[in-house]
Amino acid sequence: KGILVVDNVAAGPAIGGLRMAADVTKEECFRLARAMTLKNAMAGLAHGGGKSVIVADPSLPEAEKIGLIRAFAHGVNDIQDYITGPDMGTNEAAMAHVKDVTGRAVGLPREIGGIPLDEIGATGLGLVAALEEAQEFSELRLDDARIVVQGFGSVGQHAACYLAEKGALLVGVSDSRGARCAPDGFDIDALLAHKHGGASVATWAEGESISAADLLCLPCDVLIPAARPDVIVADNAGLIQARVIAQGANIPASAAAEAVLANRGVLVLPDFVANAGGVICAAVEYHNGSETEAKTTIVEKIRANTRAVLRRAADENRLPRAVAVDVARERVLRAMTYRGGP
Ligand code: NAD
Repeated sequence: KGILVVDNVAAGPAIGGLRMAADVTKEECFRLARAMTLKNAMAGLAHGGGKSVIVADPSLPEAEKIGLIRAFAHGVNDIQDYITGPDMGTNEAAMAHVKDVTGRAVGLPREIGGIPLDEIGATGLGLVAALEEAQEFSELRLDDARIVVQGFGSVGQHAACYLAEKGALLVGVSDSRGARCAPDGFDIDALLAHKHGGASVATWAEGESISAADLLCLPCDVLIPAARPDVIVADNAGLIQARVIAQGANIPASAAAEAVLANRGVLVLPDFVANAGGVICAAVEYHNGSETEAKTTIVEKIRANTRAVLRRAADENRLPRAVAVDVARERVLRAMTYRGGP
């Protein structure tokens, strides 16, 4: 079963990832498509928002997985206003197959002219740019920050590496198979080698095993949710001890949870502002830009947008998300006035 939601195309053809997961739902796809409209508008891209999902286990044998992806590509071939990108459960190779069938996809392998956004850590780079700006609006200091990453995949790993370069310490980490904490910090390079060998953080030697729920509530400066939606909800928002939450995942927190966090003084960097690195990279690739241009654009755009949103939120005493939604929505509505004529 596959689902495609094209949410808005006023600014241009929709770009949004293709997610493969056994339990993904139509509702998740709709919400993610809207998040892409807001994200692309916030990033000032010439693209609207969409999202697609294939309901299947991403650890299927490779040939079966490619078969499903090519079948999906045939299914969306006529929807010219949708450009497929990678997401959880799909990768650059999957996008090459979509491109082969439909003639359009982003996040392609280097060999066919792509800028492999997961390989270069486009989203992790952008998250760190957002966190650098957040220092002015909180007590966060990245050079001695303690960080927790929920979901040690492409986004989580690169964010952890970029933050470690700035002096931060990774003290908690999880993947779908388990969570661990190490108050003195993990050896990130060794943990990456363990992960890249196909093992889980659950079987890593350092630190101690903890529950997925406890991971989110570890004492830390930065919490990076980088897995699935709705992990921070009203029930656990009161227990989170991070100073700043940088939303690597799309829609990782409910509106109610973000209100609780704001009341407790936790600064939340909204997903569609902070995690736009991947789609900015994809748009640069689509318009034939280089990898260097992609990285520079990611940092410039995300720093400027984060600063503008946090400044206005502070001045108007509003939630960063509320301000960001206003900004993105105004841009989409303006773009819509240019379409279709009177
Ligand atoms: P990925 O598949 O590379 O990694 C996801 C990681 O999360 C894996 O390690 C997986 O084991 C782990 N995970 C899954 N379920 C979990 C759970 N319940 N608890 C803890 N860990 C769990 O995916 P990714 O590309 O890193 O994307 C992660 C999130 O970031 C997704 O929400 C995605 O939509 C969002 N995102 C990704 C990009 C990008 O450029 N890749 C851009 C913007 C947003």
